[in-house]
Amino acid sequence: MPLPSTDTVVLYPTTGAESLRADGVVLHVQPYGDGRELVLLDRTPAHPVDLAWPDQGSDAGSILVDGREASLLDVVVGATDGTNLFVGDDVPVRRGTEGWAFVVVHVLAEPSRIAVGDEVVVSVDAAHRRALSAGHTLCHVASLALNAAFADRWSKPVREDALGRPDFDHEAIQSSTIVPDGSVDVFRLNKSLRRKGFATEGLDDALDAVASAATATLLEWIATDAPVHIEREGDGLSDPRYWVCELPGGIARIACGGTHLSSLGELGGASVALELGDDAGTTTLTMRCSAATR
Ligand SMILES: [Zn+2]
Repeated sequence: MPLPSTDTVVLYPTTGAESLRADGVVLHVQPYGDGRELVLLDRTPAHPVDLAWPDQGSDAGSILVDGREASLLDVVVGATDGTNLFVGDDVPVRRGTEGWAFVVVHVLAEPSRIAVGDEVVVSVDAAHRRALSAGHTLCHVASLALNAAFADRWSKPVREDALGRPDFDHEAIQSSTIVPDGSVDVFRLNKSLRRKGFATEGLDDALDAVASAATATLLEWIATDAPVHIEREGDGLSDPRYWVCELPGGIARIACGGTHLSSLGELGGASVALELGDDAGTTTLTMRCSAATR
């Protein structure tokens, strides 16, 4: 069974009905440990988790063929050199590597009788998608709001964020996890961050004030109902995509492979909680954000 030589066409960054439900043609099927099965399609609305930066988890949903329905156990980014298919953590190359196609791997719990050439319909759980989109949109604006709240703690120039403020998020981020209607970001407040000019003195006492400032900024932005859209340079899985939001202070544009709401007003409201922690001797800052999604 030949493997695809081009990226899967991804529909989840689009705005129409096909971002949730679309037909596709089966390009490849193979067994995958524990009786599971992998299915590759020419196009799909299902958002895969990218284990290179697993911020937004996979969509839930199903593949329908000839009236039969197979639930998606998982949806993962994979890559193929035409000979072998590598899935998730096993992908040995970066996106955009010459000679490699990046594909959306639909993982089924058991053999499905789906065959190469079949026309199928992929249907994504809309409520789950919407909750992740809300969490992801909130995550991006919250990082900008936190940058604003921390702006006066920098004593040296560093990279600026989309709104021209010191980009604390970029300099300190360790992990970002999108949860339904929210996000959890962990930042490292290590020596190298302090050397770059970020003052950590008195942060413990200032934490509530910083969280309140970030929340107030978020509420201000949400009240403007700023439009959000995804810009992309192509329709393939590895084509660059950007989250774009027309905030009052300027247009924010952040590289992003996830899914989003279409305006900040859809968040309904938001809150930010900050907590200091310790990871093997390095101080960490955890930011938990929740939307009041309507
Ligand atoms: Zn993103």
